[in-house]
Amino acid sequence: MWYPGHIAKTKRAIKDNIKAVSAVIELVDSRIPYSSRAYEYASLFRDKKKIIIFNKYDICEIEKTKKWIKIYENKGYIVKTVSLKSINIKNFLKKNIANEIPEKFNERRALVVGAPNVGKSTFINSLKGKKTTSVGNTPGITRGVQWINVDSKTKIMDTPGILFPELYNKSIAYKLILAGCLKAEDDEADDAAFFAFDYLKENNPKILENSVENGSKLENAYEFIENFAKKRNFLKKGGIGDYQRGLKTWLKEISDGKLGRITYEIPDEYEEIKV
Ligand code: GDP
Repeated sequence: MWYPGHIAKTKRAIKDNIKAVSAVIELVDSRIPYSSRAYEYASLFRDKKKIIIFNKYDICEIEKTKKWIKIYENKGYIVKTVSLKSINIKNFLKKNIANEIPEKFNERRALVVGAPNVGKSTFINSLKGKKTTSVGNTPGITRGVQWINVDSKTKIMDTPGILFPELYNKSIAYKLILAGCLKAEDDEADDAAFFAFDYLKENNPKILENSVENGSKLENAYEFIENFAKKRNFLKKGGIGDYQRGLKTWLKEISDGKLGRITYEIPDEYEEIKV
């Protein structure tokens, strides 16, 4: 869950840091281009050039995700797709982003923002030439900010801003759990897995079929997870699949994109898409 005090602190840090830049680079998870955005922050970014980077492009269903690109471009964003994990980020920025950042006093300064787990640390640490350590949910650091040089003019703030998407319905929370952006509490792990099972059964049954032994029935989510556990040899007494262990592993592999490409949402499902 998100904690109100924490959200407020993080928002304040972004508010301070935003003054120093002319562009905001928002990282979004390509699998949930709607749910991993944080619309509530729009007013903070009002006067800035807005760049959206759809990250984890390697594990999304490209045709579905592409539909979002048009939507956000029509709303005035610069949109790029990428797999930050497998590229040279400095070169990518020089080639695709630097020219988009408005110049002020002969410099182009930008702030990176995004929901938890969308790739902020991967982005920043690779630019710094350091091994990735997750910033997790740590609120923005208040000491004087540092800048990472991309080229002679372009600088990225070394402290990314953490955005907290609004959880105004359960399916948003489940999708954030499935993408690893939100930690599941209590029964939410079961609920998220059941949500994924229903979605995949309808839209992408191959992923389910590949998770269990050939010929296993895909009737309900509980049995599905048990069968997944069985395939992995997570067994309880009597040779039954260990549901709890299966659940944990399946959710982890889904969120890491190990079971195949998934995009959970398309623009047609939404009446209105905010900025
Ligand atoms: P942060 O919480 O926004 O700082 O996210 P991190 O940079 O810590 O990344 C979260 C997880 O996503 C890590 O396990 C990364 O290795 C992984 N990740 C980052 N970029 C990509 C990508 O382009 N593709 C895939 N498949 N995984 C990625």
